[in-house]
Amino acid sequence: MTSIVDVKKETGAILDKLGVPRSAWTGGDMASFSPVTGEEIARLPAMSSGNCGAAIDSAETAFKAWRKVPAPRRGELVRLLGEELRAAKDDLGRLVSIEAGKIPSEGAGEVQEMIDICDFAVGLSRQLYGLTIATERPGHRMMETWHPLGVVGVITAFNFPVAVWSWNTALALVCGNSVVWKPSEKSSLTALACQAILERALKRFGDAPDNLMQVLIGDRDAGEAIVDNPKVALVSATGSTRMGREVGPRLAKRFARAILELGGNNGGIVCPSADVDMTLRAVAFGAMGTAGQRCTSMRRLFVHESLYDKLVPRLKAAYESVSIGNPLETSALVGPLIDKLAFDNMQKALEAAKAAGGSVTGGERIAEAGKDTAYYVRPAIVEMPDQTGPVLEETFAPILYVMKYSDFDAAIQAHNAVGAGLSSSIFTLDMQEAEQFLSDEGSDCGIANVNIGTSGAEIGGAFGGEKETGGGRESGSDAWKAYMRRATNTVNYSKQLPLAQGVSFDIE
Ligand code: NAD
Repeated sequence: MTSIVDVKKETGAILDKLGVPRSAWTGGDMASFSPVTGEEIARLPAMSSGNCGAAIDSAETAFKAWRKVPAPRRGELVRLLGEELRAAKDDLGRLVSIEAGKIPSEGAGEVQEMIDICDFAVGLSRQLYGLTIATERPGHRMMETWHPLGVVGVITAFNFPVAVWSWNTALALVCGNSVVWKPSEKSSLTALACQAILERALKRFGDAPDNLMQVLIGDRDAGEAIVDNPKVALVSATGSTRMGREVGPRLAKRFARAILELGGNNGGIVCPSADVDMTLRAVAFGAMGTAGQRCTSMRRLFVHESLYDKLVPRLKAAYESVSIGNPLETSALVGPLIDKLAFDNMQKALEAAKAAGGSVTGGERIAEAGKDTAYYVRPAIVEMPDQTGPVLEETFAPILYVMKYSDFDAAIQAHNAVGAGLSSSIFTLDMQEAEQFLSDEGSDCGIANVNIGTSGAEIGGAFGGEKETGGGRESGSDAWKAYMRRATNTVNYSKQLPLAQGVSFDIE
């Protein structure tokens, strides 16, 4: 089919409407492409590492002013950001579809997630509680206080181009920090749009310091400028495990705080009592949704032998019939892969799976939008004899490896026998199986679900995973604590100086 929408023109119209200056996205040396058609849609000026350093200096100055603003007042800025995001939801959601290739409901859903975290953070701005702790010394009081931390560096991946920024930034701002953000080089236009939206909130807020949140446009060099700068107190880095392996040791070297949100290889176990209809829908969304380009996408499925022939043929039929197409002008459920590299990696993984005895349904390229520069694929379902070869690694594409199991304990063991530890699911109506899966002997992931898929988390919970997923947590629950400095305070209001643990040190 031929594309009717002029993607480049529409991108420009949205950026103009949102108030992004043209100098930020035209005439630069960093090309930006839309996966919808594969065409170039903008040229951004990338920042030198010197410019990144200067931005971080100014972020430090902003931090020193912002930390003095009372937290509930800081929350007011985030409340205004939520309002501006509500007003810009359609435009920003559409830009997410253009830049990341998401279908409209997922583009809009990503912006909704931003609005949700703003609401959460506004409430949090009045709840940055510390504990009061019993002390062993008479006439003493012990407590914890939470202080702003400093400049927070945020590095994001292409596939959640705006939500991950908001998870970090809404919390960082109410916690009294300034932010420097290095978006993916594959999705920097949405970052410029977010900055423009935040600028509107800042204007209404009135007296926030300059440079409270800055976008640093560039490739990994700009990311490294954040990672290696001693003025950045915390780096929240989202991306591949490969990136985490580079970034983690560099942050450790300078004792910086790190939130690492890395790759996933998420699995599900389908037990004999599972509701097959519900499981089918959950697996279909988890594995094919967002064209398999979510960190939480379902990639491995262990199906009990008693259900295998009931579930897997239906799943294969769903794979064969799912609608694939241009998300800007069709109601397809599966949009494009981000680029040729993603397509090549998918094909390599499928070849490796075949070589390891896998039987592949789907995976072929689909001609779409009249362009050979866009990469649409039919999601692939691969029946594997064992969990070997490519099954052990995350391939960031819609491939679901399906394996048969007979013993539940062995299925849990196989589920856990991969490097990543992000998200997991069990489908069962058997309470003992569900509880075992959630127990300390069950799933080893940061997210473990019952009767829902691996993807589509809400902002209220802490988000992140274990092992090669990096161990970081962001978004809800008490994730805010990583964005603050904890001080334990002991106050002596007596006229004595008793020492803890009965130590005596009496000088004349
Ligand atoms: P990527 O690792 O290629 O890039 C992510 C970001 O890191 C980009 O902004 C990139 O410029 C930057 N970067 C790369 N190398 C760097 C370095 N050495 N120093 C500093 N910055 C560096 O990932 P991607 O292809 O954009 O995204 C897909 C990956 O992200 C998948 O593995 C996916 O699972 C993961 N992801 C994880 C989460 C999560 O919360 N766990 C969320 C989204 C995506």
